[in-house]
Amino acid sequence: MDKQEIKNRIEKLKKEINHHRYLYHVLDKHEISDAALDSLKNELFRLEMDNPEFITPDSPTQRVGGEPLDRFVKVQHSVQMISLFDAFSRDDIFAWEKRLKRIKSIPFEYFAELKLDGLAMSLRYEKNIFKIGATRGDGMVGEDVTQNLKTIESIPLELRVPNENELREIGLSGFQIKKVVQTIKNGTIEVRGEAIMNKKVFDELNKRYKKEGKPVLANSRNGAAGSIRQLNPALAAERKLDFYVYELVTDFGFERHEQKLQLAHLLGFRVLRQIKFCRSLKEVFNFYEKWLQKRNELPFEIDGVVVKVNNLKLWPILGHVGKGPRFMMAYKFPAEQVTSKVEDVVWQVGRTGTLTPIAVLIPVRVGGVTVSHATLHNMDEIFRLGIKIGDTVILERAGDVIPKVIQVLPNLRTGREKEIQVPKKCHVCGGGIERLKNEVAYRCINKNCFAVTLRNLSHWTSRGAMDIEGLGPKIVEQLVKEGLVSDIADFYSLTAGDLKPLERFAEKSSENLIKAIANKKEIPLVKFIIGLGIRHVGEETALLLVKQFLIFNSQFSNNFQFPISQFLKYFLNLKKEDLENIPDIGPVVAESLFEWFRNEKNVEILNKLQKNGVALKVERKSKKQALEGKKFVLTGSLNSLTRNEAKAKIRELGGEMSSAVSSKTDYVIVGDNPGSKYDKAKKLGIEILNEDKFQKLITHNS
Ligand SMILES: [Zn+2]
Repeated sequence: MDKQEIKNRIEKLKKEINHHRYLYHVLDKHEISDAALDSLKNELFRLEMDNPEFITPDSPTQRVGGEPLDRFVKVQHSVQMISLFDAFSRDDIFAWEKRLKRIKSIPFEYFAELKLDGLAMSLRYEKNIFKIGATRGDGMVGEDVTQNLKTIESIPLELRVPNENELREIGLSGFQIKKVVQTIKNGTIEVRGEAIMNKKVFDELNKRYKKEGKPVLANSRNGAAGSIRQLNPALAAERKLDFYVYELVTDFGFERHEQKLQLAHLLGFRVLRQIKFCRSLKEVFNFYEKWLQKRNELPFEIDGVVVKVNNLKLWPILGHVGKGPRFMMAYKFPAEQVTSKVEDVVWQVGRTGTLTPIAVLIPVRVGGVTVSHATLHNMDEIFRLGIKIGDTVILERAGDVIPKVIQVLPNLRTGREKEIQVPKKCHVCGGGIERLKNEVAYRCINKNCFAVTLRNLSHWTSRGAMDIEGLGPKIVEQLVKEGLVSDIADFYSLTAGDLKPLERFAEKSSENLIKAIANKKEIPLVKFIIGLGIRHVGEETALLLVKQFLIFNSQFSNNFQFPISQFLKYFLNLKKEDLENIPDIGPVVAESLFEWFRNEKNVEILNKLQKNGVALKVERKSKKQALEGKKFVLTGSLNSLTRNEAKAKIRELGGEMSSAVSSKTDYVIVGDNPGSKYDKAKKLGIEILNEDKFQKLITHNS
């Protein structure tokens, strides 16, 4: 996007976010989920961070929680109620620690807590008595909701006064103990925490509301918020909320964050038991993973983990940036709905020739994995969604199911979106397309279409070509069927998230496969030519072509990397006669090569490979290395050279001679009157070279 496009996108995002906020806060209506709205806010935030000149004071990113409502008495917070910065991945957390270390280069220790999905509250106690409870509001001024909070059983109306022993046990000094006791009795103590609705209460209430024909609660957070931000304490009481303290605002000069929680507990508050002191980020990640797995077992909803620097003396040093503190982070659980953009729609040909439209998306994380494709099923579904190429869409991936596009956000269109068209010809085989009567699907009329695709793709990944581990014909077929791969370039845009939901792909194996593909992104030219599967072009011809290519690019040293475009340019410049003039290349092969490079589809795939990060390299082997490690067996007599001459040639090129055929043998050279070695070689499927082929092998590698 250029600057003007970015500016337009920011404007559209602001409008869209404000539209949904209005629906939500004023009309109590939902058109999209909280997660999808968060995703839009996140995109806006990132665009503004990268282009700060476009930040305006009215941007939704510039406010904290929403202004306090007029119907409540306003409360000025003694200390600003901050909102946290969000992290969505380990990388975000690593980057955060890096920023901390730039300010203070020491090993950091952390404190990790569950992040409750409720409503943040500030409670003030004066002379031991609960005086004021307020919402966050805009961070500086909140709403006085004391009466409603008083209906929450876990909020003490009077603080418990801990005895000296208890205070000593949490590591307080004599001076601190005195100060705490005095403050409880005569001063002001302020705590902050989260008002939540337990899952059980939420379910029971909704069941009842349904029966009574009342509108049901969208989620437990809305249940809690609706209960607290209304004017009837009786209604609040019926909703049976709970309250957990996560911060003690009153400063007693503590050293560690956990002491604050310990004191809050002694004062009579509920404090989460699911907390952990972490010596390193590794322990933070373990805590996060554990609760990501076990969140369903908890009685309340959580949406992530809060990570705090444990050493309180560091908090003022680390300070704040913008609206949030540097010393803590909300490490969010993966959202099950996010927004992304449809970059293209490709048509996948299935086994029976059925064409399936697949949306190619800007890669996004959803449900904990990165996703770049989503099936659109068929044209009916495309009409139902009203989706166009270029659209911003809501993508859902709940549990381990295949991600799907559930909604289009038409307000974010620029006017340059394109209608999705059924292709006129099959892009795989060039066959015609038809729509069968009484069916939603279109299909390629060529019955061999799927088989051809599969053969080409499997050839590319096979041992003779790319040799990608874990990408055998079965897996390739699965990927084609799922619509993830339709040409060889598609292998290189796969993500672990695309694979993970598929049968047979646990997390580990999907990551291993992605790694295996990535490891082969720099392809030796000869393997590349073989892999393209050009008719009549096998290893032998590929070697000839490489040799020719290197004559014209003699500056390329061994392992020199170059773009596919250079290879393409070279071949596009060759006339048919040029190809025929390459030694040992006949007119049939030349014709096949010439035609292949003139096929638009092939050129498109080469460009796509380059776009997906594939590059070529030259392997200039010194003469002695050309057959290095190859094991030869000779049987029968040769006409043009003696056995010893043949052996010498092979050894000169680095090959080895052995007398017996085994599974380790690479080539068996067969002359006149061969013996039993020939039969054994055939049985073991070892490559057999007649004298002519052997001579060619020697010549090409000399
Ligand atoms: Zn076809």
